[in-house]
Amino acid sequence: MVYPIRVNNLNWSFNDNKILTNITTKISNNSFTCIIGPNGSGKSTFLKGILKILPPKQNTIHIENEDITKLNYRELSKKIASVPQNTTVDYDFSVMDIVLMGRSPYIKRFQAEKENDFEIAKQAMEMTSTWHLKDRNINSLSGGERQRVIISRALAQQSNILVLDEPISHLDIHHQVEVLNITKELCTTKNFTVIAVLHDLNLAIQYSDYLILINKGHIVAEGSPEKVVTKENIKNVYSIDICMITNPVTGKPHIIPITK
Ligand code: ADP
Ligand code: MG
Repeated sequence: MVYPIRVNNLNWSFNDNKILTNITTKISNNSFTCIIGPNGSGKSTFLKGILKILPPKQNTIHIENEDITKLNYRELSKKIASVPQNTTVDYDFSVMDIVLMGRSPYIKRFQAEKENDFEIAKQAMEMTSTWHLKDRNINSLSGGERQRVIISRALAQQSNILVLDEPISHLDIHHQVEVLNITKELCTTKNFTVIAVLHDLNLAIQYSDYLILINKGHIVAEGSPEKVVTKENIKNVYSIDICMITNPVTGKPHIIPITK
C-alpha cells in the first residue's frame, strides 16, 4: 500500500463557519509528515477527521485502503493511534494502566488483559525508555516522561499509523528532540507512517519528509520542506518576514524571523 491515508475533499463546518474546505491529500507509507499552520487554522480538526472523531462522510477518508465509514472504532484503532494535544489525566492511573489502555481494541468487553497484553505494553515502554516508570502515578511524571508514556500507549495499539497533535509544545529542547527522534525512528525502522502537528517550523523542516501548510481551513502548500517553507508562503500565512539560510548540519532550509 502506497498511501495509508487518503483524504478526498474533506469539508467541515461548525455553526455555518467553514473550518475545513476541500482538504485533499495523500500521505505516503513510512513518511514523517508535519502539519504546520497558525493557531486556529484547522490542524487539529483535520486530525480529528482522520481519527473519525468528526462524523465521517463516505468516500472522503481512506485509512489503509478502507473507507473510515466502514470501520468501527475497534478496527480503526488497530490501524491508527493518536497522541492527543491534551494529555493530562484526571485520575491517578499508574503508567502501566495508561499503556495497557492501548490494548483496549484487542480486549473483549468484560475481559481482563492477558499475558500477551502485558508483554506488548512492556515492549512499547522499552521503545520509549519508560519501563522503569511503570509503577509511577501518571500525574507524578515530568512533561517529557508523560509524553513518552502516552506514545507508549499509542504503540501498544500496534497500529502502523501514528498521529500526534503538538507533541512537543510544552517540552524543553532536549525533550523535544527526544520525542521527535523516537517518532522518526518508528518511520525509519518500524514501518510506521507518522503525522505530527508542529509549531516549530525549523524542527518540522528538519524531521519531515512531507509538509502540509494549512491556513484558514485550506491547504496552502504541501510537499517537500523546500517547496513549502518559502518566504512567500510564510509571509502569506503567518504575516512575518523571514530570512532563509541553509542549516549547516542538515543542508535543509532554516528560517530566521526578521525582527526590528
Ligand atoms: P488548530 O489546531 O489549527 O489550532 P483547530 O482545528 O483546533 O485549529 O480549530 C480550527 C477552527 O475551528 C478554530 O477557529 C476553532 O475555534 C474552530 N473549532 C474547532 N473545534 C470547534 C468546536 N468543537 N466548536 C466550535 N468551533 C470549533
Ligand atoms: Mg490544534
